[in-house]
Amino acid sequence: METDIALEQILQIRPAQKQALKKLAIESAKDLLYHFPARYETTGKAKTVVELSAGMQAVVFGRVSGLKTKKAFIKKIPMAEASLTDETGSIKIVWFHQPYLAKMLGEGSLVRLEGKVTERKGTLYFSNPKVERVDKIPRATDNLFGKEADAHTLYPVYPETRGVTSNWIYYGVQKVIQTGILDELKDPLPEALRKKYHLPGLKTAFIWIHAPKNEADALSARKRFAFEEIFFIQLEKQQERARFAKEAGFSIAINENEFKDFVARFPFKPTDGQTRAIEMIQKDFKKPHPMARLLEGDVGSGKTFVAAVTAHTVVTSRPAGQDFGNLQVAYMAPTEVLARQQFESFIQYFAHIGINVGLITGSGCQKFPSKINPRATTDISRTQLLKWVANGEIPILVGTHALIQKSVRFKHLAYVVIDEQHRFGTGQRQTLANKEAFKPHLLSMTATPIPRTLALTIYGDLDLTVLDEMPAGRKPVITEIVSPERRKVVYEEIRKELAVGRQAYVICPRINEPDPSKELALLAKSVTEEAVRLKREIFPEYEIAIMHSKMKNEEKESVMNEFKSGKIKILVSTSVVEVGVNVVNATIIIIEGAERFGLAQLHQLRGRVVRSTKQAFCYIFTETKSKNSVARLKALQTAKNGFELAEHDLQFRGSGELYGRKQWGLSDVAMEALKNIKMVEAARTEAHELIEKDPELKKNSALAEKLSEKKEIHFE
Ligand code: ADP
Ligand code: MG
Repeated sequence: METDIALEQILQIRPAQKQALKKLAIESAKDLLYHFPARYETTGKAKTVVELSAGMQAVVFGRVSGLKTKKAFIKKIPMAEASLTDETGSIKIVWFHQPYLAKMLGEGSLVRLEGKVTERKGTLYFSNPKVERVDKIPRATDNLFGKEADAHTLYPVYPETRGVTSNWIYYGVQKVIQTGILDELKDPLPEALRKKYHLPGLKTAFIWIHAPKNEADALSARKRFAFEEIFFIQLEKQQERARFAKEAGFSIAINENEFKDFVARFPFKPTDGQTRAIEMIQKDFKKPHPMARLLEGDVGSGKTFVAAVTAHTVVTSRPAGQDFGNLQVAYMAPTEVLARQQFESFIQYFAHIGINVGLITGSGCQKFPSKINPRATTDISRTQLLKWVANGEIPILVGTHALIQKSVRFKHLAYVVIDEQHRFGTGQRQTLANKEAFKPHLLSMTATPIPRTLALTIYGDLDLTVLDEMPAGRKPVITEIVSPERRKVVYEEIRKELAVGRQAYVICPRINEPDPSKELALLAKSVTEEAVRLKREIFPEYEIAIMHSKMKNEEKESVMNEFKSGKIKILVSTSVVEVGVNVVNATIIIIEGAERFGLAQLHQLRGRVVRSTKQAFCYIFTETKSKNSVARLKALQTAKNGFELAEHDLQFRGSGELYGRKQWGLSDVAMEALKNIKMVEAARTEAHELIEKDPELKKNSALAEKLSEKKEIHFE
């Protein structure tokens, strides 16, 4: 039997459901099997209404009726009310602050309710219970995968989407398993590895994850799937790495004196981190194979310096067997603005040694120095630039992704630097690294704060170097966690800063309309409302504007320009300001509803005001009374860098909330497993050893097969 059999052959699927399934990326029977539960509930806890008593924490199933919304008698809190009825009786339900629940549930729907039973004046009711719509009321006698369910049977809860409920998936999976498909599946994990790490086989793992007898089995299955996924990612990355490392590269000797002179021209002393990074890179340069290295460092940690110093080593070297010409460097930046900025920095660093620097972007090309004025840049044609790059007369070429076009050819491209590498796909990185037959050394740089386990996984083909300290003398941003009572006082402090000409960002978690899918969103401040409120009640004397992702590009640009010019004093925005914004005079950032953001993201936002030597302030406004939330936010005052904060996020919020969650392309189980450094390292080590012994997996055809299958569905 084919294992990628279409689902329709097993299940009845309505057209609307088919669309919904597609949204969950489920098309085949195998896809459905790989759609794992998000969590488990015990059906054993479920009670009938007649069994309930005050103080009990309980689960009941039944039909909802009498839904209505109103304002509570005391304090006029908006609330929803309803009753739940099963065959034994009815019980009242109230939800404070969540009147939209009434609209969402729908009269007469079947639900699963979980919460505390409370008593008031002799009447029992559920107050703010968790509620979930269900298709069918499960019975303790339900046939769960052929087993009689006992009181402790775990009941899987699947990620759902409109049109496909958790229950539908549950019965779908059961049907798929009944076809006997599990006996057809080949286990891609080698038996030796399964034994070594005590991982269940594929068939067992599928049963344990979809219908576990106990938590331990479910966990064991999840661990297996996580290991499998990370192991195959590692296998792929390590294979790429091994292939790249075998290529012939430029072996570059370091001229210590020239190097020292170049470093001495900078107006600062390198940090220990920078020195270490430079040494590592230079060590790699000496080898006859290309380097592939990732340099991670917070915004402002001085990555450009590392790139410039190492680029200097390259461009002052001669091509092998030649006593003229230079090796070349390509420096790719994600935006035109950044490319231009970098072009200008490089001119400043390299002008004194008489090196030509070129700039290529979508909107034109430039060269330094100009023939007429040795201190100025000049516009040149693309054709001219490409000619000089191809014959080696321009040793340093800075650009946007215009750099990776086929028409750009180098004479001796020996070093490729990619700035803010997370903004480019892996493919673009490889295109640049593979431009010429002789492979250049590659340095990727990123400021995205991600945990080490994630970096090791998604950048498994690169060696990792971290710049973990900021240059000395940098004034840290004064960061205050502001409780509701302090709000007024803080506004007055901000007013003083604005009065001496500074500007402020105000970040809100949402744009305007409430988002019914998230309970908390209802309470979060919105950009549009907050801008009006600030203008009316707090800062009527200042120009205030808004910015968010739903605005047109021209609108955004014009707001940004007015903010840069100082016309707008306060910019109320969603987190879109996170990237690419650079307004030196904006030294204040207020973050509303801070508990809704991850620490790493808050740190990135705060980075917006670390732009000058002026003292900067970050005010973290939170409405939460929870001690844990406040303690979590306090890490912003103590953590040394964004990477440390990313680790905090991983431990305390879980991987689901990790900054940049969606862009890594990992499944939920693999993301969960990132908490487990031992497992990630084991998967990495095993993959590494395998590839060392058998680089093309000739002796491991099952692995090679799985890998090629994986590549086909690779999306980026
Ligand atoms: P990023 O890592 O974000 O790319 P940059 O390279 O742009 O950081 O550096 C930020 C600023 O810090 C620049 O103005 C740079 O000249 C300065 N800088 C870099 N290294 C040091 C250092 N060791 N001491 C003092 N200032 C430094
Ligand atoms: Mg930078």
